[in-house]
Amino acid sequence: RPVYAAGPRTLREFAEVTWAFGEQPFLVAEDRTYTYGEFFAAACVLARRFTDVYGLRPGDRAVVAMRNHPEWQVAFWAAQLAGLVAVPLNAWWTGDEFTYALDDCRPRVLLVDGERVERVRAWAARERVAVLTFHGDAGQGFERYEDLPAPDPALGPPDVEVRPEDDATIIYTSGTTGRPKGAVATHLAQAGAAMNPRFHAAVAALERGEVPGTGPAPVSLTTFPFFHVAAFTSFYSVMAAGGTLVLMRKWDAAKALELIHRHGVTHYAGVPTTALQLLDAAGDGGLGPLTHLNTGGAAAPPGLVARCPRGVEPRNGYGLTETSGGVLAHFGASYRRFPGSVGRPTPVTEVRIAAPDGRALPDGEVGELWLRGQSLVRGYWGDPEATAAAFTPDGWFRTGDLATVREGRVSVVDRLKDMVIRGGENVYCVEVEAVLYDHPDVTDAAVLGVPHPELGEEVAAVVRLRRGATADAEDLRAHVARSLAAFKVPAHVLVQDAPLPRNATGKVLKRDLRQDVAARVRARG
Ligand code: ATP
Repeated sequence: RPVYAAGPRTLREFAEVTWAFGEQPFLVAEDRTYTYGEFFAAACVLARRFTDVYGLRPGDRAVVAMRNHPEWQVAFWAAQLAGLVAVPLNAWWTGDEFTYALDDCRPRVLLVDGERVERVRAWAARERVAVLTFHGDAGQGFERYEDLPAPDPALGPPDVEVRPEDDATIIYTSGTTGRPKGAVATHLAQAGAAMNPRFHAAVAALERGEVPGTGPAPVSLTTFPFFHVAAFTSFYSVMAAGGTLVLMRKWDAAKALELIHRHGVTHYAGVPTTALQLLDAAGDGGLGPLTHLNTGGAAAPPGLVARCPRGVEPRNGYGLTETSGGVLAHFGASYRRFPGSVGRPTPVTEVRIAAPDGRALPDGEVGELWLRGQSLVRGYWGDPEATAAAFTPDGWFRTGDLATVREGRVSVVDRLKDMVIRGGENVYCVEVEAVLYDHPDVTDAAVLGVPHPELGEEVAAVVRLRRGATADAEDLRAHVARSLAAFKVPAHVLVQDAPLPRNATGKVLKRDLRQDVAARVRARG
């Protein structure tokens, strides 16, 4: 099946195009600013280190494991310029989780920050793999990035051939529903992902009656961790427009607000949880120069749209590791009209709502969301069985999400594995969660199934209330019962003070929660 490639066909070509932004500021971290020119000069030094000193060849894997430091970007783009396969690992992982992924992808170089050196030391020593450390103490025997030769603007990237069909990245899935899988994207797929946000931005501009590409370059505060594809969508969209990326070492709503004012940030990008905290921190004071609030990575409560102040356009993007970032999105008027939806596909993405036998279902019916398009990964690293299970022979990817289409917009109703089947009736957790979030006392909510002797499963909810709130479990059940059918009303509502367990992209870890909730329900009799 021929693939339509718009613009650059490899990430190296994409980098070379954005390099032309030269003196424009690209990264702002703490009080340091890197222009596009400075940034790529640094990436070229490192890329040449890979090829000329470490002797790495195209196709070798380079692991990147750091906080959102500017050097994460240097390491990633250096790998692309050298034709290496970049493997960004989840910086939150423990030593055992790192070992699992390192054994799986078998890198030839590890690019880690000081905080993560100890978690990879034993593996690197055993496998005799080069380690380059960034930020902080290198420890014995490892080379420090800070000690590399100074960037030379005249030095170009190494002379290697990078083809569209070559692998560019291996990105591990979040492991929300099982063990993380290494999703392998070719350069053509990543180049497609790099252009997806441009398509979405162009559609949004047309809807506002503007000419696409004529607005000011975005200044974007990105709080997605760089190792997650949601961050890729953010930094690709900034780079494609010659914009500026403002980085945060660690999430803090008050600090985010301060950075927005200080750097004239126009675009915020993060998971819904942080967006809600940002709105809370802003209060009546507003969001200053901010004009766009982008969320993605996990379901956004529909109320988020209504909370966006005047002059701030809410946006929602949906994607998976396997689609290399956001492939469905919508903005402003469309999002305000359909606040429970994740929007429309980019022009290079196809959508099917599939019945269990793969047949396409008509609009309005719920089925599994299947996606096809340029940015899809080619499969899972070293796992042909998982690849065959997730991808159809004609190129569709089964997302594992249940969705429906109405007036051209896709709504995700639940993850297939999360859906509760109560006495044969399907209960979509997302729908019940949305109603709980509507209650003024609720700050966080998760709905899940617990075992029941006759019904198979019963609906339970875990809820965290605002400080000083007075609602109890019965009030919350009554609140849900006003909007939803009786079989969807949680039989058990557990109120707790502690935040819900969430992963790096804001998804509630229902796998972890399920056992705990089942035990608490049993204990209550
Ligand atoms: P694993 O496959 O290992 O269980 P994962 O699927 O959680 O991990 P990701 O690729 O990070 O790994 O997450 C993709 C999922 O995130 C989607 O399938 C969807 O359920 C959810 N998601 C992403 N964006 C949105 C959004 N805007 N609205 C609702 N859900 C979203």
